[in-house]
Amino acid sequence: MARLTTLKPRVQTLGAKPASGGWAATSTKSTTERGYGWAWQQTRERILSRDNGLCCVCSKAGRVTLATEVDHIVNKAEGGSDDDGNLQSICAPCHKGKTAAESHRAGAFRW
Ligand SMILES: [Zn+2]
Repeated sequence: MARLTTLKPRVQTLGAKPASGGWAATSTKSTTERGYGWAWQQTRERILSRDNGLCCVCSKAGRVTLATEVDHIVNKAEGGSDDDGNLQSICAPCHKGKTAAESHRAGAFRW
């Protein structure tokens, strides 16, 4: 798990040049071009509020963890939409694990 600590939480990459690794490695576009601008901030707040600020992945596993991020249940790269039904609140560790798995499936992930 030590290597995961080198991946910064996604919230810290907003407005910044994407770091290597994860979803950022699959695109050279800025976060705004990818649709993570003001509208996404609004959506993010709405989803976190809807899920009571708790991580949905942890909830399913019986854990109660504060969510800090919003995740596409079906990754956009795999055809997922920005509809609320495809979004869930998630904590940073769960998000990193999920993003890593998705990137691995896409064949774009490099350690
Ligand atoms: Zn979690």
